Amino acid sequence: MAKLKKIGFVGTGIMGSAMAGHLMDAGYEVSVYNRTKSKAQALIDRGARWCETAGECAKNQDVIITIVGYPKDVEQVYLSEGGIIDSAKIGAYLVDMTTSSPIVAEKIYAAAKAKNLHAVDAPVTGGDTGAKNATLTIFVGGEEDSFNALKPIFEVLGKNIVHEGSAGAGQKTKISNQIALAGALAGACEAFAYAKSAGLDIEKVYAAISKGSASSIQMSDIVSRGLLDDNFNPGFMIKHLAKDLAIGNETVTTYGQALPILALVLHELRNMEKTGHGAEGTQSLLKYYGVTD
Ligand code: NAP
Repeated sequence: MAKLKKIGFVGTGIMGSAMAGHLMDAGYEVSVYNRTKSKAQALIDRGARWCETAGECAKNQDVIITIVGYPKDVEQVYLSEGGIIDSAKIGAYLVDMTTSSPIVAEKIYAAAKAKNLHAVDAPVTGGDTGAKNATLTIFVGGEEDSFNALKPIFEVLGKNIVHEGSAGAGQKTKISNQIALAGALAGACEAFAYAKSAGLDIEKVYAAISKGSASSIQMSDIVSRGLLDDNFNPGFMIKHLAKDLAIGNETVTTYGQALPILALVLHELRNMEKTGHGAEGTQSLLKYYGVTD
């Protein structure tokens, strides 16, 4: 096993609980903290050490991994008094795997460097299934030495691991991923809305078009969960995709680009949040398009 043995893991929700479990299976000594303790209970029952705060979870660890919700949560766990940067030992590696703002990633990198800590942003794609099966794609921003030191840990969690560039580059890549995903998701919903209004059998349409050049992971995911299983529980929450597109929308202005599909899908997701669907899975967008109730 690698030299880095002790891991503090903050955020044991849909993604983090599976990821921390893989690290335990691989022989790492894992300590955990989550805002709601019950979501860490299964890991505690398997031998993870429970910590009462993110700062406590960072103390004396070789590596601290976080996968929380929003950029404000990332700032809180890293930058608040007594948080991760205040508490980590010199030389520790800080790995934020939340989908968060590239600006926050750059801020954390600078604050960490000032304290002789090595920070990288390493958001993921592949969904709850990718987290469970350890097949995530991981986009890494930060120094190459940090990337190389952390690679054995990333290899426990994922299959496609790319060093994208300096601090923030991982988050910028992840937002690019989310923009592509949003278009594929809304495009699939729109196709089924068209098919339904044209009087077609949607399952037969899916059986045909999911095998052709319009097929996509997004299409298969929303149909299998939302249409075939009538299951709107989250693999990936509507409110988190809205957060990702909002980050894209804020930063794209500074890059001087206009992204109309991003803006449209963000508008739809915000409406879904307003009508109480924010904590449902992204397959719920089928409801917005009237494909399902
Ligand atoms: P989740 O189930 O809500 O997990 C996040 C966990 O972090 C929650 O259990 C939450 O606690 C905890 N948390 C949030 N803020 C915290 C804080 N300040 N201190 C301590 N714990 C805190 O969400 P998820 O689906 O695992 O997603 C996590 C991140 O990964 C998000 O940024 C999401 O966009 C991204 N992501 C998700 C997927 C996916 O398919 N699910 C795929 C790729 C990326 P509570 O339980 O109290 O809320």
